[in-house]
Amino acid sequence: MKFDILTLFPECFQNFNSSIIGRAMEKDLISINLINIRDFSKDKHKKVDDTPYGGGAGMVMKPDVVYDAYKSINDKNAKVIYMSPQGKKLNQKIVEDLSKQSHLIILCGHYEGIDQRIIDEIVDEEISIGDYVLTGGELPAMVLIDSVSRYVEGVLKTESVKEESFSQGFLEYPQYTRPEKFLDKKVPEVLISGHHKNIDEWRKRESLKNTYLKREDLLDMENLSDKDKKILEEIKSHVNRENNG
Ligand code: SAM
Repeated sequence: MKFDILTLFPECFQNFNSSIIGRAMEKDLISINLINIRDFSKDKHKKVDDTPYGGGAGMVMKPDVVYDAYKSINDKNAKVIYMSPQGKKLNQKIVEDLSKQSHLIILCGHYEGIDQRIIDEIVDEEISIGDYVLTGGELPAMVLIDSVSRYVEGVLKTESVKEESFSQGFLEYPQYTRPEKFLDKKVPEVLISGHHKNIDEWRKRESLKNTYLKREDLLDMENLSDKDKKILEEIKSHVNRENNG
């Protein structure tokens, strides 16, 4: 999968090629190409922004410079995403859908944002990483690329992404590793039993419990199986009993 990033600050991505993303790049499963929008300024001072028409604070990125940077990519089939606090809030469904694309162009804004005419002309989708305003689209672009790349075939083992939080509408179960005993706390017995059916059942139960306790809003009661509903009822009465002493 190919990512082209249009940015005024390519240096922000300097250490982005480490860990899983770095390995995916080495294996050519993904490629990340940085395009410095400033390189396309025709101004002798390499100016890329100007004051807003109508007055007001801050500067606006100029449409002609962004357009020339975009045109240099020359792929009409690529999907163009503008990272913007005004966009659709990023979630697992969007991440998985985007991972099926072969080429994404990600536009990072800065200052007060980008001239609306360029957004109307080239952008297919605006995506936000949350209801707050950051100084630029570079961190959101990294969040998007990181989350999407994990779903590109070969980047992670299929089981890893299948069982993760959100992938099946639940949060994941708790994870443990060696040592078996730490600060007097023991790893749950079932996980060292080697009994796979019991481990699966324990994980399912803990996953439902985690979701109920931390993100009850994710529980879609209508689509829960009868078995899951029964487990959930048990969890609820157990938690109620604990809360009432
Ligand atoms: N004036 C804009 C507004 O009120 O909607 C905010 C501009 S913001 C200071 C500069 C740039 O940061 C935006 O163009 C966008 O690319 C990026 N940005 C800021 N917050 C973001 C968020 N929550 N999600 C995605 N991108 C964001």
